[in-house]
Amino acid sequence: MQNSTLALGISEDALLNCIQCGSCLPVCPTYKIEEKETATPRGRLALMKGAQDGILQIGDITASLDMCLGCRACEVACPSGVQYGHILEQAKDVISAQTDYTLPVKVIRNVFMKQLLPHPNRMKWVRGSIHLYQKSGMQKLVRKTGVLKVMPWHMDTFEAVLPEVSPMSAKLPKEINLKEAKKKPVIGFFTGCIQDAMFHETNVNTMKLLKAAGFPIIVPESQTCCGAIHAHAGEKDHAKELAKKNIEMLENVGADYLVNNQGGCGAMLKEYDELLAEDPIWAERAKEFVKKVKDINEILVLVEELPPLKEINEVITYQDSCHLANVQGVRLQPRQLIQAIPGVTYQEMVGAGTCCGSAGTYNITHHDHSMEILDHKMINVLNTNATTVVVANPGCLLQMKIGIQRSGMEGKIRAVHIVDLLAEALRDPVEI
Ligand code: SF4
Ligand code: SF4
Repeated sequence: MQNSTLALGISEDALLNCIQCGSCLPVCPTYKIEEKETATPRGRLALMKGAQDGILQIGDITASLDMCLGCRACEVACPSGVQYGHILEQAKDVISAQTDYTLPVKVIRNVFMKQLLPHPNRMKWVRGSIHLYQKSGMQKLVRKTGVLKVMPWHMDTFEAVLPEVSPMSAKLPKEINLKEAKKKPVIGFFTGCIQDAMFHETNVNTMKLLKAAGFPIIVPESQTCCGAIHAHAGEKDHAKELAKKNIEMLENVGADYLVNNQGGCGAMLKEYDELLAEDPIWAERAKEFVKKVKDINEILVLVEELPPLKEINEVITYQDSCHLANVQGVRLQPRQLIQAIPGVTYQEMVGAGTCCGSAGTYNITHHDHSMEILDHKMINVLNTNATTVVVANPGCLLQMKIGIQRSGMEGKIRAVHIVDLLAEALRDPVEI
């Protein structure tokens, strides 16, 4: 049957794949808190079908779609293979094009998505500014006066969990051990834009782990933002431009793998083939690119023998990154790596695969819903009696830190990225 496309530009077949069985309802975090059909994947698909058929206006469906976290747990639960994430992105693309954003929103979208994220050098300025804010005494003053409490977007909540940000001058080496390239696969390291600005030390630790595991590494200078934020915000054309730049970058560098440490960005990189499937020049190149993309957890479990690790005597639990688990299918590997650390008592959390409510900018745009989801999550975290909750994505890390604060467990539980935990466990110091 030939696909026909209507108002939202989604293929009829893709929407009709939903057989309304409801298997996705129990895994949907928004259904858990709202308990109404328009907060379910099935309900959202029906709304999109209504808009597609001209029965509903786009304005009738945006609130329901906006409330979706994009966690894609529904895709995993669906027996009918509904590609919910792609359908949602397609709808958002059309909605975004038809939305007349207010001037401040237009400016923020333009500055953030077009002027900052795709430009690594400008992101270094962001990092330098936050570092200066933290080291100049300004942060102490701001916290003392409580001025952020009257600022929009719950800035005080996010400021309170800011990591210690590296200075603007901090750099990763351009390459490590490339003379060993014939003996082991060469790793191209995808640093991420926000990741390298806010969590530069996690990138340093990623390189240390890869070096300790014996990999030759190259950090390609021409890499750019993966485009995930653009794709999720309805800026698909811009996401495609960024994808093409990254594909070209990897072709030029010629590394065997492109490794990243962020569940969300990794999922985007692994879906470049679908993003560019209709592009006659880029479709095949995107497929070759995707074959090489690996999350750090996937690469480290492939190593014959991990570098020697020292004991960490703690009870540790793991919170899945939605896009690492639901899109990339990486669930076992982080658990295996945590349990490879001597002394660790691993405690699986009930509902570890359910979204924590971070979901990109969701915890800013839908703060109350996000915090409700987080509070449910924290009950499960506390029930594990863990002293460390491990994550594999920067957004989840900040969200878990907020959750620890909200539950009054600061100083009793810490949240860490898995790379930082493994680097902490390295027995022998590694210099890069
Ligand atoms: S992506 Fe997540 S929040 Fe959105 S409908 Fe699917 S399960 Fe629910
Ligand atoms: S599980 Fe799949 S087929 Fe069933 S209602 Fe949800 S989206 Fe539709």
